[in-house]
Amino acid sequence: MKKYNVVTTISYPTKGAMGKTGNWRVFKPVLDKNKCVKCLRCWVYCPEATIIRNKDDSVDIDYEYCKGCGICADVCKVGAIVMEREGKRE
Ligand code: SF4
Ligand code: SF4
Repeated sequence: MKKYNVVTTISYPTKGAMGKTGNWRVFKPVLDKNKCVKCLRCWVYCPEATIIRNKDDSVDIDYEYCKGCGICADVCKVGAIVMEREGKRE
């Protein structure tokens, strides 16, 4: 069977011209690690690359740059991420 080399591009959040963009959020994703099954769908779909993939495939959220779009919560099939209004827990 012929083998092919697959090249992918992975971006990382970084400080841009607008600075730390996390303060744009109205809603923030809240992760329940007890529900997470490490499928990495949120990591793949986050348009801002602000889902952090850990070595054990658990995930964290980079709130410095997350803009609160909610895509991660939509694609999580086990409900491990829910969107909450900013400031709700403070
Ligand atoms: S809310 Fe949007 S930007 Fe923030 S972690 Fe989820 S998918 Fe990424
Ligand atoms: S999509 Fe949900 S279950 Fe999958 S890694 Fe992200 S938080 Fe965990």
